[in-house]
Amino acid sequence: MIRRIGAILNNVDLEELRNLLAARGEPGFRAGQVWEWIARGASSYEEMTNLPEELRVALGADLPFSTLAFEHDSLASDGTEKALFMTHDGRPLESVLMRYRDGRRSLCLSSQSGCPLTCKFCATGQMKFGRNLTESEILDQALHFRRREDVNHAVFMGMGEPLLNLDNVLAACERLPDMGISHRHTAISTVGWIPGIERLTVEGPPVALALSLHAADDALRSEIMPVNERYPLQDVLQACVAWHEARNRPVFVEYLMLGGVNDRYEQAVALAAALHPWQAFKVNLIPYNPTDAPYEGSTREAIAAFKAVLEEHGTRATIRLTRGREIDAACGQLATKI
Ligand code: SAH
Repeated sequence: MIRRIGAILNNVDLEELRNLLAARGEPGFRAGQVWEWIARGASSYEEMTNLPEELRVALGADLPFSTLAFEHDSLASDGTEKALFMTHDGRPLESVLMRYRDGRRSLCLSSQSGCPLTCKFCATGQMKFGRNLTESEILDQALHFRRREDVNHAVFMGMGEPLLNLDNVLAACERLPDMGISHRHTAISTVGWIPGIERLTVEGPPVALALSLHAADDALRSEIMPVNERYPLQDVLQACVAWHEARNRPVFVEYLMLGGVNDRYEQAVALAAALHPWQAFKVNLIPYNPTDAPYEGSTREAIAAFKAVLEEHGTRATIRLTRGREIDAACGQLATKI
């Protein structure tokens, strides 16, 4: 692959910006002015006409308008677009924009380059873990798309486990509304990292919580999601219920449908039994997207039957629309071979 570091400019590093402005003795409101331009989609300091000319030139010389280098993107026929970026130290990451007919523009953001967890069905878990992304590196992904069109939803369902990088994820969440993405339209998804769920229960903006569950018994969950050894199912559910009680919003359970693995009748009954008593969860059934892992997706009929069993047992469920599969941009397919 040809690397084009710096080919397209992204956001400035916000911390460096603050330091630089302070060192120049600029008034406190300058950082806010710069950020406002950036959040509204500016792509150079030149456009920031309410900054003194001399400051614009100085920023242009001293502070790269970028924390990520855009490498390339792919466009699927359903309008889904996937972008590959590099950090300044050569860590790859990907983000996805999903465009819907009703005007929804939903960003799927990465919180880490790679992922330290090793869920068996997920392509990201199979690549090398790099590191946590900074607040600016997270925001840069969104700004890349924001510069070209309005965006209004964001999910932390790209690479990585957001609750292992919660400081930076929360800092980024605080700024998303400036670019048109409200907290109500922002969701953080987790494998069930309990310390992070507990933190979200007491602090942070009112964003939604999604739990990747995929099995309603510990033995199977441990087999496909090794993190279950550390944080077993019942403890994770308890933490989610506490979040629900504090936040007064449902927890979205993502349940990946793996043919012959977790899609049997009795497994639907067990899932409903585990969730229903709490009245805190909404289930989203996810068709499996192909990766190199030795799994097959459940058939459409099996997914529909599973949904029907859940509903018979009082647990409402929806089936996720699959987007971007042909460009490996769908859930669980983000991985870079670098
Ligand atoms: N680490 C967090 C954030 C990533 S979200 C989490 O796991 O919740 C990515 C979502 O895609 C998760 O729900 C994950 O379980 C799901 N996923 C992983 N591999 C998949 C695949 N091959 N097909 C469909 N969904 C998959």
